[in-house]
Amino acid sequence: MFDIEFLDIPPLSGAGGAVRLPGSKSISNRVLLLAALSHGETTVHDLLASDDTAVMLAALRQLGCEVRQDGSTAVITGLGGRTAHTPAKLFLGNAGTAMRPLTAALALLGGEFELSGVARMHERPIGDLVDALRQLGCSIDYLGNEGFPPLRLRSGPLKLNEPIRVRGDVSSQFLTALLMALPIVAANDICIEVVGELISRPYIEITLKLLQRFGIDVRRKGWEQFIIPAGSRYQSPGEIHVEGDASSASYFIALGAIASGAAGKNGVEVLGVGADSIQGDIRFVEAARMMGARIDSTPNSLRVSRGTWPLKAIDLDCNHIPDAAMTLAVMALYADGTTSLRNIASWRVKETDRIAAMACELQKLGATVEEGADYLKITPPLTGGWKTAPIRTYDDHRVAMCFSLAAFNPARLPIRILDPKCVGKTFPDYFEALFTVAKADTDHIPVICVDGPTASGKGTLAALTAQRLGYHYLDSGALYRLSAFAALRADVSLDDGAAVAQVARAMSVRFQGDRVFLGAEDVSEAIRSEAAGMAASRVSAHPEVRAALLALQHSFRQLPGLVADGRDMGTVIFPDAPLKIYLTASARHRAERRHKQLISKGNSAIISEIQQDLEARDARDSSRKAAPLKPADDAHPLDNSYLSIEKSVDQVIDWWQGTRPF
Ligand code: C5P
Repeated sequence: MFDIEFLDIPPLSGAGGAVRLPGSKSISNRVLLLAALSHGETTVHDLLASDDTAVMLAALRQLGCEVRQDGSTAVITGLGGRTAHTPAKLFLGNAGTAMRPLTAALALLGGEFELSGVARMHERPIGDLVDALRQLGCSIDYLGNEGFPPLRLRSGPLKLNEPIRVRGDVSSQFLTALLMALPIVAANDICIEVVGELISRPYIEITLKLLQRFGIDVRRKGWEQFIIPAGSRYQSPGEIHVEGDASSASYFIALGAIASGAAGKNGVEVLGVGADSIQGDIRFVEAARMMGARIDSTPNSLRVSRGTWPLKAIDLDCNHIPDAAMTLAVMALYADGTTSLRNIASWRVKETDRIAAMACELQKLGATVEEGADYLKITPPLTGGWKTAPIRTYDDHRVAMCFSLAAFNPARLPIRILDPKCVGKTFPDYFEALFTVAKADTDHIPVICVDGPTASGKGTLAALTAQRLGYHYLDSGALYRLSAFAALRADVSLDDGAAVAQVARAMSVRFQGDRVFLGAEDVSEAIRSEAAGMAASRVSAHPEVRAALLALQHSFRQLPGLVADGRDMGTVIFPDAPLKIYLTASARHRAERRHKQLISKGNSAIISEIQQDLEARDARDSSRKAAPLKPADDAHPLDNSYLSIEKSVDQVIDWWQGTRPF
């Protein structure tokens, strides 16, 4: 997960392979609440692991439901007619799918509750739902602004004989909330009347289908009237599977439609959602086809590749796919004219004002955008008119995900996504998934090289820089250490270059966090000793060994980028790297640091001996014929004798920013 300030996505050129989607957010949170209100125990499979579901699970626990979790499976023991723990203060983050239905359910269950969230949640309207619940006799107070959370709920006598009127034209979540809450109190038939044109109907369909799974058969007349039958009672279905998120599928459908190249011909396979989906956003498939995507479907998977190119501009009423339609706005950047997305007023009250957000960010890329109260018209940049700028994401997962697709721009500009971790709301591993199927030309994948002598702090600096940028990290020294280690294990003389090279080529190496594995064995400690360093220095002087490790080192250059440390990263392995650092510190400082490290690990050591050893190693590394230790001509020298590690990382990031077009 990219818990970083920004993520730079290099220019992308193709795509191919399969992606398994995380569980649907809408289904996950509905199922969790229904399970909590039911009689019996429900095992929920393929549950989405995200901020929104975490918020819901925490709330249910607080209310007294037993929740057991094992990976993506949760077992919930429902309240089944019991009262919830009360009084309770529930913090619901920015999860509308928790705030709305919990407000309705808790107001009807009875008890005293306070429901609050993050600042944005307190700007998202809930007045229409509160008005509907007040008609039923529920006692609800606004603790902040009238019409918005936070709320206080208290028990009151309920009046259930009159039809309940609720507005349907702002958010369908109000109707969903009532539909899920009213079965708790349905001693008699309860009628809900929708006022105004009901938007986002597919989400109501999901609600009705799931209610059915939990034993409630809602009768309805068109989209205006819904009746919860007398005697309705939630009963757990025992087990339930959450299907993949159809809105999340939209990014990979778009990816398949946009990406070209050899890999693109095979297309992108999207697993977990397909023609049988109960989610409304599956109809994004039709919109993507209209724009030119080639899509084949099975009941629970899709295969997408580029069809028409450039994409065709469309004019579409998007009321039926409000969330996925944001992806169309970015596809519009690759269309042959102006795309109009209409009937999207609900975007204004989502995680952020999505109409304003999309308009602003699309314009940063050079698009011409017309923004109306309930529509967007997007005209792509002219050839040569593409620009790049850091993309703000407004704590809105969908803005972050859909703008990643702008990295296919023909100007080959990188795209910077600010606050990328906001994707955690529905798809915490979105970028990891994107980078497994999206392809970039190798020379577009940036590498930062950190070379320098022994114990100069390269490893720490490189690893922290990689962490700050969300890049991969290559500790090339570990590969030489591993080669020497494996050679000694195999009784191969360290002086026999060809034989050590053979061992090096056959090694199966895996890095996992800061651990290093040779085959299945964790050799992290074994290769870190001073003796292992000396042995590495000996084998590294053989050109055959260096050649044997070349492809392995190159294979670390993967999306979104790499920070590599060693002796010849900038001079030999990645000579085209856009940033090279040559890190030094005085021999005395380096010896002192190494001494501290050794002492802290419980080893005894003498500073002067350490200094002698590392000077000997540097001399050998610098004087050898094959890839000697020396600064690349275009390297930035950095002496960190008197610099803290934080300051050193800041300096590298500063130089890095200087190479970026932002
Ligand atoms: O960086 P580290 O101390 O782990 O490296 C161990 C040895 O491996 C170095 O002394 C050097 O001889 C060799 N090495 C190399 N080229 C690299 C990285 C390390 O020759 N890129």
